[in-house]
Amino acid sequence: MNTTKIRTLFIMLLALAVSNVLSAQEEFPKPGKMKPDMSEFWLPQPEIVTPGAITSDEPVPAPSDALVLFDGKDLSAWKSSREGEAKWIVSDGVFTVKKGTGDIETKEHFNDFQLHLEWKVPAGITGSSQARGNSGVFLQGIYEVQVLDNYGNKTYANGQAGSIYKQSAPLVNAMEKPGKWNVYDIIYKAPTFKSNGTYNTYPYVTVIHNGVVVQNNTRINGTTPYIGFPQVEVHGAGPIRLQDHGDPSEAISYRNIWIRGL
Ligand code: MG
Repeated sequence: MNTTKIRTLFIMLLALAVSNVLSAQEEFPKPGKMKPDMSEFWLPQPEIVTPGAITSDEPVPAPSDALVLFDGKDLSAWKSSREGEAKWIVSDGVFTVKKGTGDIETKEHFNDFQLHLEWKVPAGITGSSQARGNSGVFLQGIYEVQVLDNYGNKTYANGQAGSIYKQSAPLVNAMEKPGKWNVYDIIYKAPTFKSNGTYNTYPYVTVIHNGVVVQNNTRINGTTPYIGFPQVEVHGAGPIRLQDHGDPSEAISYRNIWIRGL
């Protein structure tokens, strides 16, 4: 083989190697378009548990070291998640979602915490599945613990009240009926991150609904989107954010919200 042929063969082999590398880079599949129901799991439906006497018509008093986020008077600890003041309606010691004004969130940001809040859907509420008293409590402004009327209202299990939305169904369904107050006690451990943007330690959450554990130190795998699967977003301390879901049924009310940093 003369020098020219060797050079030609070398160039051909080099070109083949380069094309193999390029085609290998192109082998990653392009994900298909996600639809909402791809992340909705209906079975098993959480067993229904009637909560005990812990719930009453009286608010649960805050401990002496708690930071009170709503004491029945005003939304001074809150702001709109869009801009400006929180526009939800305060009346008779409770506040109610004002549909279309957007989410509200605490002005203060938190890391690990114990959060207490009480919520209620009105008696005679209408609608079904997710369109019936839908709101939500976003931990550090990112991870949604679902608020929804699931008293006699079926929806996908990982979207029920007390779920980590589209991730973890509640262990049981401990709903109070419409017109009665529901109580959430949420214990949250914030995540830490690696320099490459993945979790070093995941966020974990325990949720107690009307005195019944519905999330038991559950690992949160990332964001809680309506469409798609959890994504990891690097973040620091964040607010408590409450959702204006905008569903057609009557609005959700909240009262007696307090938090203890841990
Ligand atoms: Mg919601």
